[in-house]
Amino acid sequence: MRIRLDRTVCDGFGVCAKHAPGYFSLDDWGYASLIGDGTVAEADRDAVMRALLDCPVHAITEIGQHRFPAPQPPLTDEDDPAERLKTEENEAEWGFTR
Ligand code: SF4
Repeated sequence: MRIRLDRTVCDGFGVCAKHAPGYFSLDDWGYASLIGDGTVAEADRDAVMRALLDCPVHAITEIGQHRFPAPQPPLTDEDDPAERLKTEENEAEWGFTR
């Protein structure tokens, strides 16, 4: 997992450094800086994700983790289009987001 911190968005709440002090440091005004290059060890993933999710201004983002589903081949005359319907039952396959 890799993260980045947009310091232009940071509003100095300090939540990130509380959750993951090994990855975020705060300056005298409470604004955060990343410690290191943003690479997060697997053992620290939960703490950093907590920091990411709790940042009130979404200044912390995960990078390089989004994968798009492989494109499907075009339908032929023999294919049943109903088999490709996106439903709640197969949402894990096509990435439905609520
Ligand atoms: S939680 Fe967000 S706003 Fe607060 S210091 Fe960290 S990056 Fe900045």
